[in-house]
Amino acid sequence: MLASVVCLLSVIARRLTPLSIMVRERTFIAVKPDGVQRGLIGEIIKRFEAKGFKLAGMKYIQASEDLLKQHYIDLADKPFYPGLCKYMSSGPVVAMCWEGTGVVKTARVMMGETRPADSKPGTIRGDFCIEVGRNIIHGSDSVESANKEIALWFKPEELVSWTQTNESWIYE
Ligand code: UDP
Ligand code: MG
Repeated sequence: MLASVVCLLSVIARRLTPLSIMVRERTFIAVKPDGVQRGLIGEIIKRFEAKGFKLAGMKYIQASEDLLKQHYIDLADKPFYPGLCKYMSSGPVVAMCWEGTGVVKTARVMMGETRPADSKPGTIRGDFCIEVGRNIIHGSDSVESANKEIALWFKPEELVSWTQTNESWIYE
């Protein structure tokens, strides 16, 4: 019952709101230093673009170890944490904010599992890497961490709200 009321309300909201100003979910994606070194930036961006997600922000930077320590703060008690922060700050990364309905969860599906060996072919980690410590891409694991990570990596003015002209061919 509740589900059908929510569904009905979302249909009404969609009818009343122009597609261009609807705020969709956002996630934080980064091509890690190994992905950059291996020439996989275009391959990774291509998959998110082709899926229909919208790029809201992108920067090419070599992040400081302090930023990475903050980014991975939830893993601070793990034995691999110092090495992880070093590896992530060892070269440039492509930090991105992607937008779309369900983008946080779908991006994780597109990435594959944390361990490349457990990742299916067709996923980014399943197709392009072998070891967990060199798994080429980061993606937020929940809407809450996405919001935290986007705020950590981007100033508000670095994110662009724009109208994608093919939007009505991606969303009903
Ligand atoms: N990692 C690692 N060894 C491990 C587990 C994780 O080096 O045993 C690294 C790996 O690069 C992973 C990152 O730590 O992507 C963050 O771990 P998390 O569990 O958050 O995985 P993710 O969200 O990236 O799939
Ligand atoms: Mg994670």
